[in-house]
Amino acid sequence: MLIARLIADPDNYSASLDDATVALEREGMRVALARLDDANSPVLQISLPEGDATAFRRVLDEKFQPSDLLILNAELELPRVFVSDMDSTMIGQECIDELADFAGIKHQIAAITERAMQGELDFESALRERVMLLRDLSEGAILECLDTRIAPMPGAKTLVATLKAKGCRTVLVTGGFHQFADPVAKELGFDRVVGNRLAISDGALTGELAGPITDSSVKKSVLLEEVSQLGEGAVSLATGDGANDIPMLEVATYGIAYRAKPKARAAANGWIDRGDLTAILHLLGIPEKEWAKA
Ligand SMILES: [Mg+2]
Repeated sequence: MLIARLIADPDNYSASLDDATVALEREGMRVALARLDDANSPVLQISLPEGDATAFRRVLDEKFQPSDLLILNAELELPRVFVSDMDSTMIGQECIDELADFAGIKHQIAAITERAMQGELDFESALRERVMLLRDLSEGAILECLDTRIAPMPGAKTLVATLKAKGCRTVLVTGGFHQFADPVAKELGFDRVVGNRLAISDGALTGELAGPITDSSVKKSVLLEEVSQLGEGAVSLATGDGANDIPMLEVATYGIAYRAKPKARAAANGWIDRGDLTAILHLLGIPEKEWAKA
């Protein structure tokens, strides 16, 4: 049994729905459609008693793009732990790119960031290379950058606050830096932060990292560790946008790619292409009247 929970663009909704039903039937898939939750919910549920998940997803994507979608293979449950990437997922920026601007090397650094996010460059070498380029930047530049350039992604506060109100533990896990992630986590209400730490000496960056590296495998193991603490089979939610989020998205019960790079989007159970982060609350079946005030 596969269930797609979908938020389509209301402008081409009916046409796409008819097209999708025909296209799915052409591939031998007979679906049941339902509008769910409360009357205000934009979610459409499309159930497929049996069939190929890849083809199901491909047809829905073709017919509804851009859409917000979550594909389930069991009944929907609220997650007990939420683990999220930070840069370009919980905040609208890539911290290291913004920091590079202060150092006057934005283009140099952004080029390496982009290659790393596309999965073309090993994460750790890319990170160390970029951090070395930031050597001698003052600690004050980090604070200024945070104050003037870093802002939560639309819907981030409501998403975290609502999940917490529903009893879900929240963890921010980032290949970026504690110097940014700690204040961001505090503002958004995350319970725990895992990230990299820029080494600082005499008020300036040394160009090195202090402590172990948080990379894609650490993101995945943080999720698994959190799930195991809650007990076998605890439902988890992960969100991310880049290549280093893929292993974490793959092991989560619900891995949702947010405005993501193609490889991360392809690895996830679902995606947010058009809404803000509160679309995840709709996909999880939490009606708007139950959303926490952020
Ligand atoms: Mg990211």
